[in-house]
Amino acid sequence: MKNVLILGSTGSIGINALKVIEHLSDSFRVIGLTAYNNYRLLESQTRKFRPKYIATHEKNLGYLKKALSGIKVKTMDVERDLGLMASLPEVDIVVIAMPGSAALIPFLSAVRSGKIVAPANKEAIVIAGGLIMSEAGRNGAKIIPVDSEQSAIFQCLEGRNKTDLRKVHLTASGGALLNTSRKSFDKLTVKDILAHPRWKMGKKITVDSASLMNKGFEVIEAKWLFDLSVEDINVVIHPEAIVHSMIELTDGSIIAQMAVTDMRLPIQYALTYPKRLPTGLRPLDLAQWGKLSFLRPDFNKFPALSLAIDVAKKGGALPCVLNAANEVAVEAFLNGEIKFTKIVEVVEKIVLRHKPCKSVKLNDINLADQWAREETKKLIG
Ligand code: MG
Repeated sequence: MKNVLILGSTGSIGINALKVIEHLSDSFRVIGLTAYNNYRLLESQTRKFRPKYIATHEKNLGYLKKALSGIKVKTMDVERDLGLMASLPEVDIVVIAMPGSAALIPFLSAVRSGKIVAPANKEAIVIAGGLIMSEAGRNGAKIIPVDSEQSAIFQCLEGRNKTDLRKVHLTASGGALLNTSRKSFDKLTVKDILAHPRWKMGKKITVDSASLMNKGFEVIEAKWLFDLSVEDINVVIHPEAIVHSMIELTDGSIIAQMAVTDMRLPIQYALTYPKRLPTGLRPLDLAQWGKLSFLRPDFNKFPALSLAIDVAKKGGALPCVLNAANEVAVEAFLNGEIKFTKIVEVVEKIVLRHKPCKSVKLNDINLADQWAREETKKLIG
């Protein structure tokens, strides 16, 4: 029996992770759940899964303690205690399903405690990938990605020699704007952007998928997770989102991982690795699809992708600046303060203003993050 802590249990990844645990309840049990805002769902999840620990925002603690007074559960503060939760000796696996850079502290704590870490969150790896990977190596932690593309690469690489690897082909469904002309981008509303054709996800990541910033983040993430040079990561648009990513070997062979678009599969694999178990999902029927298509990304239409790749090459604290500026700009877009096209314009300005620093210590990351947030807010005004 493995004990699973889910950070961000009320978001789409968290809900799917609970479905997986319910499906595999002979082998996994929920030890902890956390939710920043959605305390009502956290309450019902707590009643159902009976975790030993839960955490939520301070303002919801009073309600939850009262509502769950008949249940034995320790309630914690989501802003203060996630690092502690991730390091608890009874935790075996930490699923990082919460969005944003706030995941960095529990992520570092989990790797320093030698846990199995299953991250769906990409911001933490984008801003501090070097630090996370070196701490994981030093403390014997295992990182098994949940993000569908990174999971696919992880699966394709299994049992192979790193020296046989020539390239990684990171697939992108293309987001909501694949077939929208650049000219009409200025008229796009929040609702247009949130209509992702293939994946149902949180708002922030859906906006990032539309701008392809999400794919740019995944380039940075893949660089760290698989120790690749940015030049060896190729982005290919694949609207059907059936091939979740591919690796190319020295002899030119390409190995792909294909499956239905359902996050339960990569989540389950991260939990059961290296074992494979039935998922109960409908199998992939390729004949039903008939055709799968692949296209080169349009870097002019989606400047966020080239910006992120450039940032990935430069490294240092720049990915952190990119991420922080993007978080603030996306939020401003979702609040109706700026247009969609303004997001990448703003982010690029902030990236160009940043003085490069090669260091990637936690303190530099925090400073760069804070600086970028303040500058972006000022710029948006
Ligand atoms: Mg992805």
